[in-house]
Amino acid sequence: MFRQKWRNVARLRRTLIASLRERFAPDTQQNADVQANLVKALYASPGSLMIGALAGGSLSIVVAYYAQLIEITLISALICVVALSRSISAIYFLRQFASDDAPTRPVWGLAYELGAWGYAALLGTLAFATLVLTEEASLHILSVCLVAAYSGGISGRNAGRVHVAIGQTCFALLPTSLGLMIAGGLGYQVLSTMLFLMVFAMAEITRTTHRIVVEALEGKYEKSKLATKFERLARFDSLTGVENRMAMQMRLREMFDSRLSDKDAMAVFWMDLDRFKEINDSLGHMIGDQLLCGVAERLSRALDGRGHVARFGGDEFVLICPAADGVVAQQIADDVMAEFGHDFEAGGYHLTVTASMGIAVAPDDGQSSDELLQHADMALYQAKHAGRSRHARFDWSMKERHNRTYELEMGLRTALANGELKLHYQPIFESATGKIAICEALMRWDHPTLGRISPAEFIPIAESCSLIDSMTAWALERACHDAMQWDDEIRVAVNISPALIKSDGLPRAVIAALLASGLKARRLELEVTESIFLEDSGRTSLILSELRRIGLRLALDDFGTGYSSLGYLRNYIFDTLKVDQSFMKGVGAGGRDRAIAQSVANLAQSLDVETVAEGIETAEQLRYAREMGFTNVQGFILSRPIPADELLQMMHATTRETNGVVLLMQDRRRA
Ligand code: C2E
Ligand code: MG
Ligand code: MG
Repeated sequence: MFRQKWRNVARLRRTLIASLRERFAPDTQQNADVQANLVKALYASPGSLMIGALAGGSLSIVVAYYAQLIEITLISALICVVALSRSISAIYFLRQFASDDAPTRPVWGLAYELGAWGYAALLGTLAFATLVLTEEASLHILSVCLVAAYSGGISGRNAGRVHVAIGQTCFALLPTSLGLMIAGGLGYQVLSTMLFLMVFAMAEITRTTHRIVVEALEGKYEKSKLATKFERLARFDSLTGVENRMAMQMRLREMFDSRLSDKDAMAVFWMDLDRFKEINDSLGHMIGDQLLCGVAERLSRALDGRGHVARFGGDEFVLICPAADGVVAQQIADDVMAEFGHDFEAGGYHLTVTASMGIAVAPDDGQSSDELLQHADMALYQAKHAGRSRHARFDWSMKERHNRTYELEMGLRTALANGELKLHYQPIFESATGKIAICEALMRWDHPTLGRISPAEFIPIAESCSLIDSMTAWALERACHDAMQWDDEIRVAVNISPALIKSDGLPRAVIAALLASGLKARRLELEVTESIFLEDSGRTSLILSELRRIGLRLALDDFGTGYSSLGYLRNYIFDTLKVDQSFMKGVGAGGRDRAIAQSVANLAQSLDVETVAEGIETAEQLRYAREMGFTNVQGFILSRPIPADELLQMMHATTRETNGVVLLMQDRRRA
């Protein structure tokens, strides 16, 4: 009869375990974070674990004390040992992995499982032994209540790990149920059945609670993943993977403020690729993007842990190097620039790319992080201005220049409307006759507080802030208007910035000026410098040849300086070559300057192009210019640039003269 009962119970137990295994097997798909959190949940409330241990330990001692049986005493002792070791391990775990994001090891999960199952099995065994070996009803009640209460509590407490909780419930309840069945009596058997069914009820409760816990943990995990993703997006440049502008500014501020003393060094480098736009425009943005990634990689390599790289935007990168003084900064700059010594590979292209860099080093170059960054930018501007592919360290004279430039830029914005701009004219004389052939219009700006500003200073500023279009349009209109009052043979020359040709505004401005004044196109000459051809994609030559087609004349100004190339003379048609004044300065001393000036005069003669010798300041220079065959001469010795009304007076005077240039010179000297 006992055997039969035992077989039934064993069969039931097997079925139960199989179904439980199937339903509550640990989910290996769950991500590692959720798993780790579930392990943590097991140790999350050491209080409840300790209460369980205390209750189990003390009740088992009471049972052992009253039962006076060696088996029960042994089980009680084991219960106490396991209870104690579990309490200690819970405290250790909590200390070790106190923070939320501290990593947990699977061994902790296993340790908990074995401890929990062992403890539950011991409680179940105690109840079984008490029921089977003793007759004392109070001890039965104590041990059964202990198991029932323990099982109820455990299904909630360990719901995070279903198989742990179910295992515990089984290990505690099944031996107890069996003991009750064996102990006999209707009441005990009913209770045995109840406890047996309780396994299923508890399993269901555990499963439901588990689902809720896992869903909550997964939700939390998804949220934290999203938060990490957004944080990354907010901090890092999505293209190159280095920090972005915002993160860089925060880092710079933090590093600057965390220096131990105001005297501690730190360096900021602001760099920018030279002519990146051309690569982007000609090879496409994909190649440009690949190049930027390559640059970011090389910058990180060059820094080699000495600082941080950030992409400020476009092709600009900022490097922040804590504890780098002037000497270290120089070394870093050299290392970074060396990275541009070999080609970059992007989309199958080998690209030779150079970069310019500005450096500012605290504490000398800035008292705040913002100031340091601003000064690195100024130094970069300087490096670009000095010809690119180089680095420049900030110095305070740059700041003064920057401030003046800023003040001039602000002033220029209203200069035209306020009538502060004027045109002066410098006559260009025919060498042979001494007659005025052309008058070059030169802009003058009388700044209300800074006085007269040289066009050599304000024209580049106007070019950089897009004011040159309106200023040239005004100059063309004014010059054409003034020229209408001169002899019909005298032309007017207007200087044209390369920036204006690129912006397409020139033909419109020229035609508007001619129409408004009624001046014949052949009397208008445009002076351009060689720099307009530097980045010519064909449009410049098209615009110039169209203008020439309507009758305008073209002069190549400052010839011989900058990027002189005979190719320009072959590809573009000019009516006049103006040899730069620097050559005329040296003609008296003979040597190379005279040889060059002579060659240009000969060359122009062969090409049937007029020539102007610029910057004639002495009688000797004038003599040489005429001897060398320059068709026209211009210079202070003949006339400085003068206002329109003075020019008119001069024109009347020169038409009365007969001896041309020589007499005119004497006239000037007398004046
Ligand atoms: P540029 O076109 O080469 O003009 C000649 C410059 O040489 C003028 O300086 C003139 O005053 C100066 N110069 C003439 N003869 C002599 C001489 O014998 N000795 C010396 N030392 N200098 C002489 P300025 O007026 O200061 O103009 C400087 C430059 O500014 C011009 O060089 C031109 O590139 C630019 N510029 C002037 N006005 C305009 C303008 O309306 N538009 C544009 N885009 N540029 C202008
Ligand atoms: Mg000129
Ligand atoms: Mg010139």
